[in-house]
Amino acid sequence: MKEQNRKYWNPLLEKSAPEQLLAMELKNFRKLIGYAKEHSVFYQKQLKDVFPEDITSLETVRRLPLIDKEDLRKAQEGKSPFPYGEMLGVELKEVTDFRQTSGTTGKPVYVPESYESWQWRVEVWCHILWMAGFRETDRVFVPFGYNVYVAFWEGHYAAEKLGCEVVPGGALDTRDRISKILELKATALLSTPTYGLHLAEEAFKMGIDPRTIGIKRMLCAGEPLPLATRERLEQSWGAEVYDHIGGTEPCAWAAMCEERNGLHIIEPFFLVEILDMETLTTEVGPGELGVAVVTPLGRRSFPLIRFNTKDVVRQGGNGCPCGRTSKKIAEVAGRADDLRKIRGVLFTPVAVEEIVRREFLEIVEYEIVVQREGLMDEITLRVEPQEEMGVEPSKVFNRRISERLKTKTNLRFRIESVLPGSLPRYTLKSKRFKDLREDKADG
Ligand SMILES: [Zn+2]
Repeated sequence: MKEQNRKYWNPLLEKSAPEQLLAMELKNFRKLIGYAKEHSVFYQKQLKDVFPEDITSLETVRRLPLIDKEDLRKAQEGKSPFPYGEMLGVELKEVTDFRQTSGTTGKPVYVPESYESWQWRVEVWCHILWMAGFRETDRVFVPFGYNVYVAFWEGHYAAEKLGCEVVPGGALDTRDRISKILELKATALLSTPTYGLHLAEEAFKMGIDPRTIGIKRMLCAGEPLPLATRERLEQSWGAEVYDHIGGTEPCAWAAMCEERNGLHIIEPFFLVEILDMETLTTEVGPGELGVAVVTPLGRRSFPLIRFNTKDVVRQGGNGCPCGRTSKKIAEVAGRADDLRKIRGVLFTPVAVEEIVRREFLEIVEYEIVVQREGLMDEITLRVEPQEEMGVEPSKVFNRRISERLKTKTNLRFRIESVLPGSLPRYTLKSKRFKDLREDKADG
């Protein structure tokens, strides 16, 4: 069989009936509990009174405690063995790869991978890349030095496992990367959305229309990818752009198929619960927003049971024209950590990104700053316009943005223009949202 004609990476799993998938997940969930209690000091304590045979349904799963990043930090700090502490699920000598979280929300978490656990992550990523149409005929360019950050390593190894040719593009500046992509006739990119846009912007400055470069597909990682940003990337590159969701601790756990309409949970590799945001005790229905709680079911080195990702997602139900049977995520709405109350209104920065990327193509970069002035919260959108617009875009332009933002978010924004090139360009995690209030919850 010719590989490039194969539609599914693992047809047996990807077309299993939903109840079969759930049965496999519960079985592996039980195994994981048994394993974790035996091998990880953290779970010996936390699941002292829980036994694998107790888990017979999703309802019984929900009786177990949730854990989050803070629990992982506490289980590591000052605990042995260094640096992984009490979460470690294998002997230290079995660890073959060190990874860590980006630390955008505090002290980083160190994540150990044994060779076996790493291969499990790579297999998950094979599903992701295959769904996004990556095939052995692709030459994949990765425009980053990956350092200790996991997503691009996973993408690199999985692309290799699919039979793609991988070009690591670290230690080059942006223009040299563009030249290299052209020189090698690369066909696919793994990138953050922000850097994907920046590459396109630089190509234009070099007199090259990115649509002529020959990139056919791009998988985004590292940041949220609202529809408007994805469309902007697709137009800039003339390519199909795919999203996925995941994190360093649980691995990537859902991704887009060729329909590019929502994300498939990578079942049965994960048991994913989408829980009511307030109570975290009941599962939300199709179309509703909830917090994703993820249990990766095949990693011994770092067993995670019911990890609260704090990702706010819209439940998407089952069924997809692509024929895959796994549950879907209709939309990634943002981070629970980024949800803020500003003047009593619930605000998420993704709402601003949607407006800016869809309706104001003149804006190259932007930044949202929340400050308290006197008793009032003030929210400022700093915008960096295209050079052609000059330093001082018209008042009409500013008013147009602030009116659109007011409609979308119910908040009044102050619009401030900054000089072209003055806002930071991010390669990995962008930090476009700055809440400088001391008491962020109040408002
Ligand atoms: Zn699908």
